[in-house]
Amino acid sequence: MSSNLTVCGVCEYSNIKKISVVWCSECDEGLCEECKVHHAASKATRDHSIVQISKYQKLPSIILKITQTCSKHNEKYQIFCKKHDSPCCRRCVVETHDNCGELNAIDDLTQNVKSSNAFLEVEQMLAELSENLQRIRKGRQDNVKSLKENKTKIEKEIKETRILINNHLDELQESLIKELYAIEEKENKKISCLISSIQEKEREITECQTNLDKIKQNASDLQTFLAMKHIQQDVTNNEQFIESLLKENNMNHVTISFKREKLWKLYLPL
Ligand SMILES: [Zn+2]
Ligand SMILES: [Zn+2]
Ligand SMILES: [Zn+2]
Ligand SMILES: [Zn+2]
Repeated sequence: MSSNLTVCGVCEYSNIKKISVVWCSECDEGLCEECKVHHAASKATRDHSIVQISKYQKLPSIILKITQTCSKHNEKYQIFCKKHDSPCCRRCVVETHDNCGELNAIDDLTQNVKSSNAFLEVEQMLAELSENLQRIRKGRQDNVKSLKENKTKIEKEIKETRILINNHLDELQESLIKELYAIEEKENKKISCLISSIQEKEREITECQTNLDKIKQNASDLQTFLAMKHIQQDVTNNEQFIESLLKENNMNHVTISFKREKLWKLYLPL
């Protein structure tokens, strides 16, 4: 392939710079308008197929890189060896493919190649490949989308679960506090009741003391003797009262305790 497509190769050989209008792949060079006419008339080149430069420039680079002459012998490819699946020039055939059997003229093979089954097949296979790739890509893209949806849904569920746990803990706290208040109130009531009866006894004792004091100061010996019987009875009664209090364990110091571990065992394995 010539380094400069746009310059006429023939004229450049004579150090003249002219713009090429066509490309001859067999000569592998561009031709100006004038040289094109010579090229078409000369016996050596009149069979060469030429293309417009503008058209040639549109060919993909992979095509432009494919050489149409044998690099080893610098001769035009003319034969195709089926056994080696390779194009050969005349010399190649003589040197390497003489015994290969199935050798075809390239001109025969290239006729109507664009409408051949093989060409159609390649076209079809490419279309199928492209379709398959598209389908696989779409599938994967759908997966990415659905993963995102999964994530969003689960995140919402986690947050909702947290609210449920919060609510549950609120209820638990409320019921525990309610229970605590009830226990305290019940124990308070019991102790208050006891305090009332103790205060009643204290009043009685104080009255006894006052009476005994008055008797000591003002009563006669006989009055004192008789009154003492009553007061002694009161003292005995009160002693019995204290004894009964102690017996009934009413004097125990009451406390309320909270067993957190027990609660955890109950509520943590939600
Ligand atoms: Zn020229
Ligand atoms: Zn040519
Ligand atoms: Zn060759
Ligand atoms: Zn061969």
